[in-house]
This record gives sequence, C-alpha cells and structure tokens, in this order.
Amino acid sequence: MTMKNTSLKNSNHSLVVAIDGPAGAGKSTISTRLAEMLGYLYIDTGAMYRAVAYLVAQRGLNPEDEPALNILCRELQIDLVATDDGLKVYAMGEDVSRQIRTPEISQLTPRVAASPAVRFCLLREQRKLGEQGRVVLEGRDIGTVVFPDAQVKFFLCASAEERGRRRYAELQQKGIEADLEKTIAAVSERDLADMNRAQAPLKQATDAVVVDSTRMTIDEVLALMERVVRERERTDGEIGDKSGTVEK
Ligand code: C5P
Repeated sequence: MTMKNTSLKNSNHSLVVAIDGPAGAGKSTISTRLAEMLGYLYIDTGAMYRAVAYLVAQRGLNPEDEPALNILCRELQIDLVATDDGLKVYAMGEDVSRQIRTPEISQLTPRVAASPAVRFCLLREQRKLGEQGRVVLEGRDIGTVVFPDAQVKFFLCASAEERGRRRYAELQQKGIEADLEKTIAAVSERDLADMNRAQAPLKQATDAVVVDSTRMTIDEVLALMERVVRERERTDGEIGDKSGTVEK
C-alpha cells in the first residue's frame, strides 16, 4: 500500500493530526483543506475501507466470510495518490475513486470494516503511512486505536439531518443518483453500525477537541482547527521535541 504526494511543503513539525467522526460530518473536505494549509500529508482511511469493500463486491465475496477476507488481505494493494483533482484511490492497480463513493459501496463498507482481518491489515498500513508525522488522518478510530498518542485529535460531528443533507448534495454534485430521505436514513444506519461493532468502534477519544459543525461554515471550522494545530506546533517547537512523543 502506498501514498504518493509530491506537493508537501517543508515543515519542522512531526505532528499527527487525527480527525474522527460520523459519516457526513465534513471530515474529508476539512481534512483535505487542513492538510493543504499545514503542508501535511492527507490520509483518508475511509477510502481504504471503501476500496476493500469495492473488491469484496467485485469478487462476489461474503463480507462476513472471514477466511475469504483474510486471503484478500494477503494480496491487497491499495494506493492513495494526491492529485490536483483531489485524492485518487487505486485498488489492485485500478482507479476506483468514483466507484467507491456509490450508495451501495457506502452501505457495504461498514460490514467489511467490521472484519478483524481487514482492520488488522489496514491498521498496519495506516500506522506505516502516518509514522513520520506531518499527517492528517481522518476516519473513525484514528485518535482511539490507530494513533492513540496523536498530538492533536478532533472529533468532528453535526446533526444527523445536516449530515444526511450534506452527503446528498455531495452525491448530486458527483452525478450519483440519490434520494434525500433515504440518504439521511442511510447515514444514520451507517453510524449505528460503526458505533456498535466489536472492533475499533466509532467513539470520541477522551482527549479530542469536539467540533460540532452543524451551524458552522467550512471556513469557520478550518480556522478553529488550524488555530489548535498551530498552537500545538508552537508548544511542540518550544519543547524542542521533533520526534512526536511530546508529553501530554
Ligand atoms: O469516512 P467514510 O465515510 O468514507 O468511511 C466509510 C466507512 O469506512 C465508514 O462508514 C466505516 O464503516 C469505515 N471506516 C472505519 N474506520 C475508519 C474509517 C472508515 O471503519 N478509520
């Protein structure tokens, strides 16, 4: 699994920024822009789970068939490539950036993401991608499981209605057919599945900064988050520890 990004700016900091939260809270938009502002690498862990779900669907596998998922994980090749047009996602060399965003794959992904084999494999890759620091990782379990020692953690949320509306607008913009009521219901259903699974469920890290974006613009959310990260960069610099193991 690889992550390519040729546009990183130099930075002396090695912070890990974890952004978790439910579906449709604005994590992807915010994480992409925050990473850009900071000159950090952006890692969309949801895209990785979606890519695995895409392969499960393509191969006609049962998402509850753990041995089959284990075999798939052994040969898994997922690549995230940052381009001017946004993040491109490749599964086994195939560009699946668009296919992984359909309502069908959104629905299938939590079932695949509940698999211990899949989580084990992606967890390892995510840690490898983020270990150098200067990364913004977004997902469900970044601040709790993947990088429990991340120096900056956000839990980004919004009301279920608002999140459903945003997801619907996003699908429309991408030309993917959808229904508003069904999208709101699907978002809530996905949250329930993500919160109630045994492995690495969606939950707020106790030390996360909670940002409720229901009545905030993207720019307001970004300004708040950038302030928190810059402050942490500043104290990190003062302590003079560039290893990312700053005492909390
Ligand atoms: O973030 P996104 O909505 O693209 O994530 C799709 C799905 O991937 C989530 O609903 C969840 O089931 C799974 N996921 C996860 N852990 C992560 C990121 C995503 O289980 N860190």
